[in-house]
Amino acid sequence: MSDRQDILIIGGGSIGLNCAYYLLRAGRKVTLIDSGSVADGSSTGNAGHIVPSHIIPLAAPGVIAQTIKWLLRPSTSPFAMQFSFAPDYLQWLLRFVRNCSQGNVDRALSPLKALGELSAQNYAHLIDEEGIVCNYQQKGLLYLYRQVAALRAGCEEAELLRSHGVAATIYDHQELRRLEPAVTDTVVGGILYPGDANLNPGLFLQQLALRVRGLGGEIHEHCPVHQLQGRNRRVCGVVTRCGTFCPEEVILAAGSWSPEVVRGLHLDVPVQPAKGYSITMAAPPDTLRHALLLGEQKIAASPMGDLLRFTGRLELSALDMSVSYWQIQTIMSAARRYLNFPRLPEHITSWAGLRPTTPDGLPIIGRTELYPNLILATGHAMLGISLGPGTGQLVADIACGRKPVLDPGAFAPSRF
Ligand SMILES: Cc1cc2nc3c(=O)[nH]c(=O)nc-3n(C[C@H](O)[C@H](O)[C@H](O)COP(=O)(O)OP(=O)(O)OC[C@H]3O[C@@H](n4cnc5c(N)ncnc54)[C@H](O)[C@@H]3O)c2cc1C
Repeated sequence: MSDRQDILIIGGGSIGLNCAYYLLRAGRKVTLIDSGSVADGSSTGNAGHIVPSHIIPLAAPGVIAQTIKWLLRPSTSPFAMQFSFAPDYLQWLLRFVRNCSQGNVDRALSPLKALGELSAQNYAHLIDEEGIVCNYQQKGLLYLYRQVAALRAGCEEAELLRSHGVAATIYDHQELRRLEPAVTDTVVGGILYPGDANLNPGLFLQQLALRVRGLGGEIHEHCPVHQLQGRNRRVCGVVTRCGTFCPEEVILAAGSWSPEVVRGLHLDVPVQPAKGYSITMAAPPDTLRHALLLGEQKIAASPMGDLLRFTGRLELSALDMSVSYWQIQTIMSAARRYLNFPRLPEHITSWAGLRPTTPDGLPIIGRTELYPNLILATGHAMLGISLGPGTGQLVADIACGRKPVLDPGAFAPSRF
């Protein structure tokens, strides 16, 4: 397989499939390869929240102190980290600590807002235009709090977001009960971000993959990339189990595996996997009306038609997708403190996925300086669904040499 292809995308998760769709719409010839199945892996079992309100990066002031508190009570904490002396991991941690500053938040707010809003608009448009059926609902994201201090901190954050043009409404317990009858008596208040939305990510991506094929995109599954060959400032060969590809342009959208795929090219792609879990069950009769975020525990709850999903936990870990049943139980017992249901039914699907996390909390999108025909589209951490269609459009602009739909400077790979 050595004919010259136009564009080769590595990775068929949320980011790779969205890139493929927008590139095909721009008239490019696209081949996408994945080591497993497309529309699978980390992009399917997640909460499916589309959150343009989420503009504060993971690396922010106060995060280190909170992290230390969580590490001191490991059994019930929403956060965990492995201890490793791997140089990439230690360098990542050092960079993350340095980025937990107001300066990093100030740098990130506008670019994350622009990309989040573009993505949210693109979702509405794409789902409508392509007739995608995926339990998409635009009812906002509702945060619930059980502790007055946490609600107060949530309100301060809402004020900050409002000052950046993000709509937010604060509710007391009685109002919350009318909005979401399942909340328990211990929930003291909540905040609704009405511009947010949610969907079933697996359904959305499976249908997006069909559209990609329908538009002429070639998809090779179970075709892992073994090596990228670089010569004269070009990636000239992509060696895979199915042969060697020689594309004009390569787009790296391999999520948490991105550093592994480019190993040998001497590129700095600081992405670490952060594992999380989900539990999916048949929705109880009076299922949730809104997508929820259970504030103190950082657990997401997502109604998806006749399914209900809970997700939680962030473990800085290795490339390991194993499910911890202890963590599944912990997530469910924490969720029951906020919601009067569910009793865990007999049949549940439990899942683990990896968030590709960068040390400054911004994704990496753009051409690399060492190999200008290699575009990175990775590092979306907890926002890979939310930012998918915006990233797809931005990457299509970059690859086609068009004026980008938004300023991509803050996402440039060269910042590392
Ligand atoms: C519990 C949990 C809840 C989450 N909730 C949300 C949410 O509500 N909203 C949101 O926006 N995000 C959420 N996320 C984050 C989101 O799931 C990720 O950001 C997203 O999946 C990243 O997409 P991606 O396409 O970059 O990577 P992936 O989905 O990981 O896709 C990468 C693809 O690359 C392929 N690949 C890897 N190595 C190779 C290779 N060598 N050759 C070829 N292919 C390869 C993989 O098989 C995979 O298909 C959540 C994550 C978790 C874990």
